[in-house]
Amino acid sequence: MSDPLRAEYLRTMGISTWHLRTERGDPPAEATAAVATMAATGTSGELDTLGWVELRARVAACQRCGLSPTRTQTVFGVGDPNATWLIVGEAPGAEEDRRGEPFVGRAGQLLNAMLRAIGLAREQVYIANVLKCRPPGNRDPKPDEAQTCLPYLHRQIALIKPAILLAVGRIAAQNLLQSDETLGKLRQRAHRFGASDLPLVVTYHPAYLLRAPAEKRKAWEDLQFAKMVMERGRSQT
Ligand code: URA
Repeated sequence: MSDPLRAEYLRTMGISTWHLRTERGDPPAEATAAVATMAATGTSGELDTLGWVELRARVAACQRCGLSPTRTQTVFGVGDPNATWLIVGEAPGAEEDRRGEPFVGRAGQLLNAMLRAIGLAREQVYIANVLKCRPPGNRDPKPDEAQTCLPYLHRQIALIKPAILLAVGRIAAQNLLQSDETLGKLRQRAHRFGASDLPLVVTYHPAYLLRAPAEKRKAWEDLQFAKMVMERGRSQT
């Protein structure tokens, strides 16, 4: 890539050329054997036969965890159902809960810029979260909430059959990979998800990047890495 083009991409993501490099030590999340099995096999049990319409209806009516009484609405996911890229975040925030669409707040604006930096329009990808309901006060999802909600995401992955999964943030990465490793250790690696061995790459959550803009350069490196992993995977099929 030429230097001016690279500089333009960096500008799009709001990356300045000077920065501090600090590593963030994220605490581990708990994992359960049941979800580990689902992650390993890529199956979602009783949801396995559902199409988009039924799955969306099932999510909209869901009362399987303690988040349903406090949500305005469920946030199912958005984008191209045949997308090559599936972006997975953590959970809806206040704006997403209000509008029923993932990543529409400030973090969403940055996510859009991150996607543009690798030549992708928001409409070209599919965007979903581990949790379909907003945790009150934007707290982290509890392990039991994630475990209860993950089968919906697994079914979405099975329906989309993307060429690559991009997990943004520790919560998405740890839940998809059933790992308690820190984000710092999970990024810059080509992981595999499910029975179909989907490539999975991890990067920082845009909300974190808004708080720590010096880390945007590392996110840029992750996106380049993800693109390379995706293209390599495609050339092998
Ligand atoms: N953060 C997420 O992880 N997902 C959203 O949808 C919004 C903010």
